[in-house]
Amino acid sequence: MKITRTSSPTAAGSSDWFTGAVFIDTVAAPVPPARLAAASVHFTPGARTHWHTHPFGQTIHVTEGLGRCQRRGGPVETIRPGDSVFFEPGEDHWHGAAPDRFMTHLAMHEVDEGGNSVSWGDPVDEGEYEAASGAG
Ligand code: MN
Repeated sequence: MKITRTSSPTAAGSSDWFTGAVFIDTVAAPVPPARLAAASVHFTPGARTHWHTHPFGQTIHVTEGLGRCQRRGGPVETIRPGDSVFFEPGEDHWHGAAPDRFMTHLAMHEVDEGGNSVSWGDPVDEGEYEAASGAG
């Protein structure tokens, strides 16, 4: 038997980047020349990211709950455990929980030469998010 212990404390997501309460457990933090970063991100009901892009894109994989995501100009999509979503490099998007459910996803993305994996934009306003309420 081998147990690999977690060493990173759970971090609260900054209100500069998230609406609502979000908690982040680091899964992989790259040391150059490695570039793969991964985190388990826990969204409380109604919580979501701000609009943002990733320089090399991002895959999220839902592990728990019920979520929502949207690319700029596209429909709001419902995402469920087992679903994976790839956001293209530079594609403006957001992801988060349904209004009345928790949602946890793994987030996997690569960092650039400066160690950056994301470029943050404006919050998803209530009107945009409420459009998600009826999403199937
Ligand atoms: Mn993203």
